[in-house]
Amino acid sequence: MQINKSKSLFEKAQDFIPGGVNSPVRAFRAVGGNPIFIERAEGAHIYDADGNSYIELINSWGPMILGHNHPMIKEAVIKAMENGTSFGAPTAREVEIAELITKMVPSVEKVRMVNSGTEATMSAIRVARGYTGRDKFIKMEGHYHGHGDSFLIAAGSGAITMGNPDSPGVTKGTAKDTLLAPYNDLEAIEQLISANKGEIAALILEPVPGNMGLVLPKAGYLEGLRKICDREGIVLIFDEVMTGFRLAKGGAQERFGVVPDMTTLGKIIGGGMPVGAYGGKKEIMEFVSPAGPVYQAGTLSGNPIAMAAGLAMLKHLDSNDEVYKELDAIGGKLVKGIKSSLLKYQLDFSINHVGSMYSLFFTNQEIVDFETAKQSDTAVFGKYFQAMLQRGVYLAPSQFESLFLSTALTDHLIEQILTAHEESLIQALGL
Ligand SMILES: *Cc1c(COP(=O)(O)O)cnc(C)c1O
Repeated sequence: MQINKSKSLFEKAQDFIPGGVNSPVRAFRAVGGNPIFIERAEGAHIYDADGNSYIELINSWGPMILGHNHPMIKEAVIKAMENGTSFGAPTAREVEIAELITKMVPSVEKVRMVNSGTEATMSAIRVARGYTGRDKFIKMEGHYHGHGDSFLIAAGSGAITMGNPDSPGVTKGTAKDTLLAPYNDLEAIEQLISANKGEIAALILEPVPGNMGLVLPKAGYLEGLRKICDREGIVLIFDEVMTGFRLAKGGAQERFGVVPDMTTLGKIIGGGMPVGAYGGKKEIMEFVSPAGPVYQAGTLSGNPIAMAAGLAMLKHLDSNDEVYKELDAIGGKLVKGIKSSLLKYQLDFSINHVGSMYSLFFTNQEIVDFETAKQSDTAVFGKYFQAMLQRGVYLAPSQFESLFLSTALTDHLIEQILTAHEESLIQALGL
């Protein structure tokens, strides 16, 4: 496999862009080697600057749930472009997408559009603080909520990969209002609450975390959080930037049957354009300016092109229940195949899986939280990643990520992935 053009692009990029990339995990630092520069993408494949093609298992970190360059989304964008790219004034499409989101996502009665998942979570915390009149909030170790200051504490994914979970530039003053708890541990939450009685505005978590690798909630865990938050008047926020519109039409909250007070959304919601959103109970969302006192704004929020792409995506997902059955079937087949090759070589590595998300961890420990996730052998992961890449399968370049499947994966492609997987295991482990 030749990657000369990617190599020289990356060399030049490093002269002008910090680390050569516009988002850290793209730099391949956790897996070694040079990042691949992408030229185009279509369906289940992406194509790099040197003309190599790869089967996609990240899909732009989640958004491309129907595969790349879907004709229906492309058409919606081109049509919207005819009328201009931005107005800075309300449009009918914003009303339509807001109504659709409230229909699809159980917790959302009112919603505000923003430009990224980061903006969504930053804003949701501000609103929860304004609503409760309290300052502190609880976040889970290894969960990622974008790069807002108050979230960059044990933040999973890119932060783990870079080896500096607490970023310089985040002040102690900011960090002291962020309380940390391990995921899947209700007792730890009770302890934090009794030590900070009446001071906690919100509890934010990824209901099904994907930013320390995929981890599933233990039975009763999400229900337990719901009960505790009700009892203490704490705003329960599900960060569904990853899981929203992916684990079900209504996200993890629909799939697991636990309804939070607020929800943050991103990724799939923009159909590949930069979009995020936060929403929730009417009485909470009425605190957002100009309805209420909590200020939050955006020059390009609700951008007409972005809304056209997002609306096309959400309408399709809303009107096609088979999409989720199909995604579950694809995920099921792939994970079954991976498990059978593990069995064949008597490897008891851990694999976490739900619907169209999965992570393979190179440890035999059960992965239930950040501490256990860190037990995975990241050096072996790096070798496995490179071996898969050589065989034309594009994984997330870090152990601490979930993979995201799309409906574009045919049985034939799944077979190809499984063959590459088995060969890559052999190569990575020297079997
Ligand atoms: C990706 C992600 C974010 C941040 O979204 P950006 O659009 O990258 O700012 C926040 N929360 C979760 C759970 C995410 O996966």
